[in-house]
Amino acid sequence: MQKNFNFKKKFGQNFLKDNNILEKIVNSVNITNDDLVIEIGPGSGALTKYILGKTKKVICFEIDKDLHIYLDKYQDEGAIIIYEDFLKINLNNYIKNITYNNLYIISNLPYYITTPIITKIIYDNIDITSCVFMMQKEVGDRFNAKVGTKSYNSLSIFIDYYFTISKVCDVSRNSFYPVPNVDSTVLLFNKRKNKKVYVTNEALFFKLIKDAFTYKRKTIKNNLKNYDLTKIEQTLNKYNLDLNVRAENLSIEIFADISNNI
Ligand code: SAH
Repeated sequence: MQKNFNFKKKFGQNFLKDNNILEKIVNSVNITNDDLVIEIGPGSGALTKYILGKTKKVICFEIDKDLHIYLDKYQDEGAIIIYEDFLKINLNNYIKNITYNNLYIISNLPYYITTPIITKIIYDNIDITSCVFMMQKEVGDRFNAKVGTKSYNSLSIFIDYYFTISKVCDVSRNSFYPVPNVDSTVLLFNKRKNKKVYVTNEALFFKLIKDAFTYKRKTIKNNLKNYDLTKIEQTLNKYNLDLNVRAENLSIEIFADISNNI
């Protein structure tokens, strides 16, 4: 990594320089040469290099064209490098003509858009085997949030519906150049083979949860006033709860039960 590269703070450019961590990230999933890996924000290609050691089916999305001076080399080795904003692309268009066995998404995320990226991946509803994401440590804790805690929100439930989360490792800020002012954590999201809850209408389930969290301090009665509150109340009563409960206190199982009964 040339130290005279003009790092762009606005793109969250902190490049990982610890080979042990890079290896740990790539080895946290079992990539074979039939698998396709999507990398978001390859930067100077530190992770890309290790991914290419496992499979040549690699597509990287990098917003900063200036990084081509590092990435051209990996393009020559078989990676497809797309200079686009990951949040604006249609992932399916890039992968639909490729044959592969498993699909993995690996990224040392640009931290300023961690939540939008994960939300996009969930909403795009692409069949992914696992994701490995490095993110700011505090944010990682939030994705793992349990019901009843302050960090628990609709995204925690959406993630829980599709994935199980486990920690790969924590990473000190000193493993990056330039050194950021936060520590990091690497999380592995494994797609559930069997859904955690049975839901008859997924679109309704997701909308219900989103609506239930519209105003964090408001009760279910207020946030869900456009729904059949009598039916919702009947379901809540089964759990010794009533319409004055807040969404942050409702588990994914209770949301599934409510959605299946309206
Ligand atoms: N993977 C590299 C770099 C991580 S820094 C490493 O581990 O060293 C985050 C990277 O994401 C930077 O290269 C930044 O330019 C890129 N990036 C930021 N916003 C992006 C976006 N919207 N779409 C794609 N890449 C983005």
